[in-house]
Amino acid sequence: MEPVKAQGIKLWDKQGTEYLDLYGGHAVISIGHTHPHYVKKITEQLNNIAFYSNSVVISVQSELAEKLGKLSGYDNYDLFLVNSGAEANENALKLASFHTGRKKIISFSKSFHGRTSLAVAATDGSSMQAPVNKTENIQFLPFNDIEAFEKNMNEDVAAVIIEGIQGVGGVQIPSTPFLKKIEELCKKFKSVLILDEVQSGYGRSGKFFAHQYSGVKADLITVAKGMGNGFPIAGVLISPEFKAVHGMLGTTFGGNHLACAAGIAVLDVIKDENLLSNSENIGNYLMTELKKISGVKEIRGLGLMIGVELEIPCAAVRNSLLDDHKIFTGSSSDKNTMRILPALNITKEEADLFLKAFKSVMSKMLVK
Ligand code: PLP
Repeated sequence: MEPVKAQGIKLWDKQGTEYLDLYGGHAVISIGHTHPHYVKKITEQLNNIAFYSNSVVISVQSELAEKLGKLSGYDNYDLFLVNSGAEANENALKLASFHTGRKKIISFSKSFHGRTSLAVAATDGSSMQAPVNKTENIQFLPFNDIEAFEKNMNEDVAAVIIEGIQGVGGVQIPSTPFLKKIEELCKKFKSVLILDEVQSGYGRSGKFFAHQYSGVKADLITVAKGMGNGFPIAGVLISPEFKAVHGMLGTTFGGNHLACAAGIAVLDVIKDENLLSNSENIGNYLMTELKKISGVKEIRGLGLMIGVELEIPCAAVRNSLLDDHKIFTGSSSDKNTMRILPALNITKEEADLFLKAFKSVMSKMLVK
């Protein structure tokens, strides 16, 4: 399929066939394709005569940081802007190491933090983990296992890194007691708590950050994907406890004017169109309805980050949704779990189109 046009959660190919995009490039499309406010903001920035001026960059970066702080509730945190999720996590790990003077990192099974040099790319010995990344400084502990965490946490740990909701790992939600224990022991041992909200952040879960359901506060939060609605931009939100040291962090392209214009437009739309509540409402509706469909084993998720675990492998189901109903969905590292990550402004009518198609595909699959 070769998309030639996109609008909202719809795509069209050369022949004019319409598709429903319920995946948005791994949760990248947060406010819908070609949202008019987004297109306008980037176009205006592109036409800005002071294109190469530092003062323009500083003013758009400040506007972005201020709006992000207000909407996310982390308004006293600093913002360091980069270009991708891996880069955000890499910088967060580096900051944690500088801050504590320690090397050890704790991460969890089935986590995915991008292709970083510190081996926090993919766990469970998956093929994505390059041999060069196998360092003794990284410890992978079982996910949601409080006892194992308590046993292994100590004053050597620079940082604990965890996703707000595991995405690639099949939409697994960290339990509130687990997150609270991590927060408590990070405080006790003066280690840094890094919340990777690259996929689960920016309203995807129905709250600005998924970890805000548990009431924990992170020291560093990494963001990317939905932040730019397709324009490359990422960032690290940094607690005021961290002292800025000249030269410690740096980047050529991070926080460029176009990326910031995209980031500002996304925040404007999330706020003006109440997308956190739409994400929560349509997400709850979808999950309630999906649970009723035969062949569905378990539904996991918050807001519009939904994992649909089937009793059968999901590849054939996803293929039929695409071939027969023109609907895009996503996979995960678990072959039976598909991911639904539509734009946050999906309507109930669009959700119903998916539910109807999914029901029909599942009934055919189960008869076979
Ligand atoms: N962290 C999480 C939770 C992700 O899901 C991803 C990408 O899928 C990354 C980090 C890496 O982001 P990027 O591909 O922008 O480097």
